[in-house]
Amino acid sequence: QAPVITIDGPAGSGKGTIAALLAKQLGWFLLDSGAIYRVAAHAALEAKLDLEDETALVNLIQSLAMRFTDGKVWRNHQEVSLAIRTPVVADATSRISTLPAVRAALIDQQRAFRQAPGLVADGRDMGTVVFPDAKLKVFLTASPEIRAQRRLKQLSEQGIYANIAALIREIKERDERDSNRPIAPLRPADDALIIDSSQLSPEEVLSLILQSY
Ligand code: C5P
Repeated sequence: QAPVITIDGPAGSGKGTIAALLAKQLGWFLLDSGAIYRVAAHAALEAKLDLEDETALVNLIQSLAMRFTDGKVWRNHQEVSLAIRTPVVADATSRISTLPAVRAALIDQQRAFRQAPGLVADGRDMGTVVFPDAKLKVFLTASPEIRAQRRLKQLSEQGIYANIAALIREIKERDERDSNRPIAPLRPADDALIIDSSQLSPEEVLSLILQSY
């Protein structure tokens, strides 16, 4: 089996940035598992499904063809790279992510990213559920205020304008839902390296990770 490094943590902790830098540095594949959940939620919103109807959600998921190439995200023939990043989709995503059948329906798709020479996987349960045998498990955190600021910057770079107070609220709500769900809750694996990135640059976080690998 190809080696895996997992990077889990709450929204805006810098997981995506760090995972991309690390994958590039090592020449490994990259899995943004949040994007997989977001594509499913975006499709469910578009189909106007009841976001608590597990059977309907699983049927929909099984009919989706997702593609991730050159930093772009496709669902069937539609490019959804930006559409899946809005706060409305983020909220719907964390709702459907609490459902065990939805998580089960997406797990093989995530594991299929594991290919030689290796995989960097970013998400909430990469180290605890999807790749429990990962070589290194990182858990990235940062204060909610710093995470909201990072999200604001990221969204504005994509032309999406949000309000900082609303973003802090949204992030806290999402973290709470992600941390308190009965299945695959957001928490560090027992053997995780915990890094608080509040006062660190991406390069500093990267070097801490590479030192431990
Ligand atoms: O990481 P990102 O913000 O894109 O994730 C969106 C949402 O998808 C999270 O708030 C969480 O509810 C869900 N998610 C998850 N498990 C993962 C990745 C994301 O439940 N491995």
